[in-house]
Amino acid sequence: MPFTPFHMGTGISIKALLQGSFSLMVFGWTQIVMDIQPLVVLITGEGHLHGFSHTYIGACLLAIFSALSGKYLSEIALKMVQRRPIHIAWWVSLLSAFVGSFSHVLLDSIMHADMEPFFPFSEINPILGIISIPALHKLCIYLGLFGAAAYFVIHIYLSKKHEQRNRKD
Ligand SMILES: [Zn+2]
Repeated sequence: MPFTPFHMGTGISIKALLQGSFSLMVFGWTQIVMDIQPLVVLITGEGHLHGFSHTYIGACLLAIFSALSGKYLSEIALKMVQRRPIHIAWWVSLLSAFVGSFSHVLLDSIMHADMEPFFPFSEINPILGIISIPALHKLCIYLGLFGAAAYFVIHIYLSKKHEQRNRKD
């Protein structure tokens, strides 16, 4: 990891920028899917902790799986919460899952010495230790807090603009 929830900081800031063109639910689902392999290794004590799932090729495959499953899971979950049908476009689901899996490998590459993100082409992890682990965790938390504030500011601004445009029409 960073512990799976820390990854949400990146997603929240991207959600602030892309608003309706990004699904935080699919992004979050992707974080869970990415950390299933390390979780199984932790429980069973067998296998490579940050193995194939934590490479960029593994991230591509898991992004496709997460986009396909996450679109429907998110639509069901959002429908239950908001009590109205919600549609997530395929391109939004794919974008959110790919951003999710690639940012996951990128952040984990900074803190885990056993990672080989460019496997099978290279065993080198060039960004390992580029910043300290406490600094990385702080960065994730700040991205989440800043992202949440930015999301609401941008959301309110866009809603007002939309309202003004509707009034003119
Ligand atoms: Zn991870």
